[in-house]
Amino acid sequence: MWFILFILALIAAVAIHFWWRAKFNAQQGQRTAELEGFQRHQLQTSVDAKAQQQVLFNSMLEGLLLLDRNRKIYLANRAFKNLFGLKTELRGKTILEALRVHELDELVNQVEAKGQVLNYELKLPDLSERWLQVNAAAVSNSAGEREGTILVFHDLTRLKQLERTREEFVANVSHELRTPLSLIKGYVETLLDGARNNPEVAERFLKIIERNTQRLDLLIQDLLTISALESERIKLDLQSTKLRPLVEKVFADLNSRAENKSMTLVNELPELIATADLNRVDQVLANLVDNAIKYGRAQGRVIVGGKKVDGDKVEIFVQDDGPGIPPESLDRVFERFYRVDKARSRDQGGTGLGLSIVKHIVQAHGGEAWVKSEPGQGATFFFTLPAEIAT
Ligand code: ADP
Repeated sequence: MWFILFILALIAAVAIHFWWRAKFNAQQGQRTAELEGFQRHQLQTSVDAKAQQQVLFNSMLEGLLLLDRNRKIYLANRAFKNLFGLKTELRGKTILEALRVHELDELVNQVEAKGQVLNYELKLPDLSERWLQVNAAAVSNSAGEREGTILVFHDLTRLKQLERTREEFVANVSHELRTPLSLIKGYVETLLDGARNNPEVAERFLKIIERNTQRLDLLIQDLLTISALESERIKLDLQSTKLRPLVEKVFADLNSRAENKSMTLVNELPELIATADLNRVDQVLANLVDNAIKYGRAQGRVIVGGKKVDGDKVEIFVQDDGPGIPPESLDRVFERFYRVDKARSRDQGGTGLGLSIVKHIVQAHGGEAWVKSEPGQGATFFFTLPAEIAT
């Protein structure tokens, strides 16, 4: 009996042990699963944070470069790689290995010495004339120990180009103003020195003075127009503009100049109507027809024609049969003060601003201006304007 009771107790104990083990294992499994889940979550969170960081850095317009305390690249964002035209992995390389820009390596020396360098202008040593602004600072941890260096790069090329254009413009304007002014001054002095006593010489000198004051006046008018057009201070007075009668008016204004060179002015324009500022289109046509007379062939013909294109535009051309424009100058004649032949332009009273004004006015209307020319075959200037919308 005792023996049977003992066996039963033993079986119960073994059963309880196995039940407990099974329960323990199940709990353990659950805990391990929970732990793994937690670790996976932690890992995912850190992967997500890294990915977010990467997206953030890569969406920056500024180039970003992070160096570790051994001056090796720890991070370089997409904008940085684009600025320097780099495609390879940069991590672990030094600045000199990755970029070969000694000036930048020197800049990091300065940052290490001073803590930061702001607004440093760096010209890239390639042929593309590119400028970068660099702001750099040392990075320290909470204990104040140096961890590395952060450098932020901003592309300055466009600003530098604008600055250069402005400087060239000021230099050109001064030069253009000085030429007639020194002529006027010279002739006035000669008159005062006694030339005024000879009526024939005095008259000749006074005519030269008059011509040069007119040139100054023209130049100042053109400069004011350009400045107003560029700063968009001019508001267009858009209205239905009949183009054929406008060409007739421009021809009448310039007829005496054409007669001086025995040139014929031909209006081949069909009855086109544009939605445009009448006075500004008058200015465009006057500049183009005036140029065609100035640079066209004596006894030659100036033709103005055009057509409707794409249903919503009118395209007008002004053609001459003069010497034309060399191919290398075709893209440049619309630039301010660009002349193929400086002496010839000045002799003809040109300011070098006429075509630039034409381009600005046409663009303000949403149109385009361009030129086609074969040397010796004359030049044809084209421009488009919005056509009047039929109501
Ligand atoms: P400019 O006052 O010198 O005429 P523009 O801006 O009107 O200034 O023209 C710029 C240059 O383009 C001129 O100096 C001239 O060299 C060239 N050009 C303009 N129109 C013609 C043309 N019809 N034929 C040949 N060259 C032209």
